[in-house]
Amino acid sequence: MDETLTDADIIDCGKLSTKQWPGSVTATSTTPEIISEAVRRLNEFYVAVTDDAKTRCIDGRYDPHVDEAHLGPQVPGGAPGAALAWRLGVDEGSIASATFLADAERMIDEFERHGFAPGGHRDTNNAGAPDKVGCGAIDGIDVIVGAMMAHLDDHKRIVSLILGDDFNNRVYREMLGGASLVNFESDRYFAGREKILDILEQRFPGSVATLEGDHAEALVVVNMVPQTTLASNRFAQTFNGVQAFGYDVWRSLEMAKSLLPRNDQERLRQNFVMARVMTTVATLMALTDGSQRLILRMPKQVAEAQPEPNSLQTEEGTVRL
Ligand SMILES: [Zn+2]
Repeated sequence: MDETLTDADIIDCGKLSTKQWPGSVTATSTTPEIISEAVRRLNEFYVAVTDDAKTRCIDGRYDPHVDEAHLGPQVPGGAPGAALAWRLGVDEGSIASATFLADAERMIDEFERHGFAPGGHRDTNNAGAPDKVGCGAIDGIDVIVGAMMAHLDDHKRIVSLILGDDFNNRVYREMLGGASLVNFESDRYFAGREKILDILEQRFPGSVATLEGDHAEALVVVNMVPQTTLASNRFAQTFNGVQAFGYDVWRSLEMAKSLLPRNDQERLRQNFVMARVMTTVATLMALTDGSQRLILRMPKQVAEAQPEPNSLQTEEGTVRL
């Protein structure tokens, strides 16, 4: 087996929060022993993505039709979920005339043009509901900005943990400003968002999955190892139904490069990635109570270069002794 799949660093960052977030998905019904075992064995459940497999949501529930030998990457809300990040980070048009539905359709166009297979999902619990699709990242998208504002300390801490050295406070504040504007227009901007799944289904038959059962995510895994993704069905089956949210953040970085390819678009790429990570964390705040364990899955650290023997590091550089 390819070593990069099984040999990644698993970094346990503890519980998402000690506060009570507004969402209902809780990890408190799972035992700490099962969670620890799941964390320890996490790499066993990461596989190489298949290029033409449809994009999946971060949702950890059971997908009865997915072929786990051919998985697409996981991002919140699937393809339409990137629309809000584009609106916050890249689009310079006025929010007053924008709608989520139009933004999401345009994002699906971008996916198609750049060869990313679009995808999204519904669930069995909301089958037949008139204005819900069953994807928390789409159904709850009008409240995620409010959730983020209500728990700003947690939000900033987790976003900077995920981005590491790439976290930029100025960009963070700019995106927050954009999010407040969207929040102000929330009712109008997000109206009719559930129709995006019909549009996705019509344009790409078979691209919309229907997930089964209830949420039982005890982990949030932010995966930074390119071209890998979580086999969610096998994970949940192994751990007695305990699920994991999987966010393949490497895909957001890859998308930023494809959608904004010019050398002079670095600022926009940074904005897009910041906004995508910010909306992901906000989605988790709206979906969960904050009790899940946050795990970073990172490429194995190569040992830092040691100073040469018989040399001294000074501000001027290496001085040979
Ligand atoms: Zn979803």
